Amino acid sequence: MKKRILLLAGGQSGEHEVSLMSARSVLNALPRDRFDVTPVVISKQGRWLPPTETTKALETGKSAPGGDLVLHRAASAEGYDAVFPLLHGPMGEDGTIQGLMTLAGIPFVGSGVLGSAVSMDKVMTKQVLAAVGIPQVAWQLALRRDWQQNPQGVKDEAVKLGFPFFVKPANLGSSVGISKVHNEGEMDRAFELAFSLDRRVIVEAMTSHKPREVEVGILGNDAPIASPVGELSFDADFYDYETKYTEGVAQMHIPARIPGEVAENIRELALKAFKALDCAGLARVDFFYVAETGEVLLNEVNTMPGFTTTSMYPKLFEAAGLSYGELVARLVELALEKR
Ligand code: ADP
Ligand code: MG
Ligand code: MG
Repeated sequence: MKKRILLLAGGQSGEHEVSLMSARSVLNALPRDRFDVTPVVISKQGRWLPPTETTKALETGKSAPGGDLVLHRAASAEGYDAVFPLLHGPMGEDGTIQGLMTLAGIPFVGSGVLGSAVSMDKVMTKQVLAAVGIPQVAWQLALRRDWQQNPQGVKDEAVKLGFPFFVKPANLGSSVGISKVHNEGEMDRAFELAFSLDRRVIVEAMTSHKPREVEVGILGNDAPIASPVGELSFDADFYDYETKYTEGVAQMHIPARIPGEVAENIRELALKAFKALDCAGLARVDFFYVAETGEVLLNEVNTMPGFTTTSMYPKLFEAAGLSYGELVARLVELALEKR
């Protein structure tokens, strides 16, 4: 019998449009002889759009406001064998939707509440990964309250990391709200921006030299496998939103142009991180490789990485011999095996 899949896309985060693009690719790729797929687009306001508006959003890449309350639709999701929450960022990749599906008793693709929530928060991720000895840059946590009550104190702490450093909202993605701070004059704007988006902000030392950006895909539940290592190159100060999403600005290299033993080390560290964070199904684990010193530093773990046919995660597994269609089918199987 065909499996009935509910594909969730869009969502309330700044990565709404990215999610719509990914969902269109997944919808086209899931083998029709095995899966019966119903897409539902979640508006930026968090409402679940009815079929006509969902189709329109997927076709145009933009969604209208309106739609149902979340809980109303979740109840009707009981008619599905599995949910594919192809949502990025807060209210999608952070354990909230995963909690709803868990309560409703419906299997879903990807990490559960714990793995999703911990991996979404850059501070929690760093704390957990430090406990298992995974190398990372030096960092600090600052709360919005600290900034409101004593901004000078927050700045005095941050400069101890040395310029330049990075200021990031702890729970976002796609480089939204991230600043590279080169001098004292840039501090106020960076913190104001990050705190306008999150209560928790991470301040990170920059790698000792401009890093090479390398990424690994992980696939599986309790016996996960790692893809080959991929690399992104670009001509910009750092991998910001514009560089990520402007066609032709960043180049993908698979395999990464790094020594074989470094790639092997990166794959092992990625698997270790996936397990330590209790991830499931899939994750893209991103690293910095500092060629000058040979350092490998884990940057972040994305539990629902970009998923268009040209995105890094599916491309990495394609290089390992798994086609896009086979990959999405495997992810649904992993969701059904998870319980
Ligand atoms: P996001 O989750 O939004 O992708 P990242 O933490 O991956 O945020 O940061 C986005 C980009 O900023 C990275 O890909 C890298 O180019 C740059 N960057 C972030 N932190 C550092 C750092 N500590 N040292 C050097 N570059 C960094
Ligand atoms: Mg991210
Ligand atoms: Mg990133």
